[in-house]
Formats: sequence, structure tokens, C-alpha cells
Amino acid sequence: MDLVVNEIFGPTVQGEGRSLGRRCAFLRLGGCNLSCSWCDTPYTWDWTGAGDSGVAHDPRKELHRRSVEDVLAELVEFDTDLIVISGGEPLGQQERLIPLVTALVGRGKEIEIETNGTHAAHPELVAAGVRFNVSPKLSHSGDTRKRRIVPAALTSLSAVSGSTFKFVCRNTRDLDEVAELVSEFGLRSVWIMPIGRTADDVTKHMTELADAVVERGWNLTTRLHTLLWDDKRAV
Ligand code: SF4
Repeated sequence: MDLVVNEIFGPTVQGEGRSLGRRCAFLRLGGCNLSCSWCDTPYTWDWTGAGDSGVAHDPRKELHRRSVEDVLAELVEFDTDLIVISGGEPLGQQERLIPLVTALVGRGKEIEIETNGTHAAHPELVAAGVRFNVSPKLSHSGDTRKRRIVPAALTSLSAVSGSTFKFVCRNTRDLDEVAELVSEFGLRSVWIMPIGRTADDVTKHMTELADAVVERGWNLTTRLHTLLWDDKRAV
């Protein structure tokens, strides 16, 4: 079955989290089950202008049905060891991702899937060795807790070896909310990432967060792509 793709691009570098700076190719899938006000990829889901930008994107321009064979051929062409599958929310299409991930792993690729943590991962993706970069959303996203925190999904993703949990934070007060989730769901490998759509914003929030993050025993990541290219789209 076809995948609903927003964009494919590379070679580039992973801008966030555990693989920050690694050369990679990106597959960005369309659609998301959340609607975070500050979302940096509203063009994958916001067809009504619900987000902070107020821009209603056009699904006819942004979403493309592509066969697995097609997507595979384009990704392999970038000749990167790492493939990052992002969104939108890629686990919304996870059954359709299985043949693609299987083929990529068969070609020696490492796969990271970036998810908002509201879907439990399919056992075949786990068995294929996919690493999940889980980014549960805090209350400042504007999504209700019921939509953004799905206990069964978080518990299941936390049980997958190699999962990391990355939280977008504005200031040290947000860290208390992270701590509650970490404790409630027994999350390990916690990363804090500053909010920000410009290099100045990212640096400002990261400077405010850094000491407190280290003190709590967590990891800190910047948004390298934003520092380098601000909010520019890759394609
Ligand atoms: S979960 Fe991610 S893609 Fe979806 S609306 Fe929130 S920030 Fe955007």
C-alpha cells in the first residue's frame, strides 16, 4: 500500500537528539493526530490554519501518495547510513512502513522514527531494530492531555530497548512537567530540547535550560538545523 509522503530530502544532518550532527536522509510523512500550536511542520497536517502561524496549508500540494519501491529508491540514492522517518506523525502509517523499513534494514541502513508517543510501535518495526525518538508533548502545546498523553503507548515505547524521550521546553518550569511524566511512565534516556524557530530563540531558551537539565540528570540537545538554517524548509 502507498505511503502518504510530505517530503524526502538529503543528504543532510540530524538536527536533534541522540544522533545530532549525523549525516542522514529524511523521509517526512504527512498527517498528524495532534495539533501543537508551535508545530514546526504544520504543512504536514494543518489544513485550517489552527497553528500559531494561522496559515492553512494545502493538502493537494503537501501530500503525495508514493509507492514503497519509489520511496526506497529515492532514500537509497542519498547514500547515508542513517535514515530518519519523521512527520507529522509517522506511526499513523506504521503498518505501511513495515515493508520500507525491512528493505532499508536489509540494505544495512540504521532507522530512527520520530514520534509524538501516542501510538504503540508495531512489533515488526521493533523487531527490525528501529530506534524510536519519542517526543511526548507538554501542556504548552495546546493539545489536551487526553490527546497528547496515551499511557499504553508511552509505556509500550518505554519498554522498547533504545527508545529516547525528547521534550520540547521553554523554560525551567516546564521541567517539572517533564519530571512528572518521567516518573509516571518510568522513562529513561530523557532529552530536553529548547523551543525556537530562529537561532536566537533556540540559544536563548537553551541557555536558560542548560544548568537545570544537567542537574536533573538528563541530556540536552539543541536544534542544529534551526541554528544553521533558521526555519527554512529543506525542499
Ligand atoms: S506532534 Fe509533532 S507534527 Fe504533530 S502537531 Fe505536534 S509538533 Fe507538529
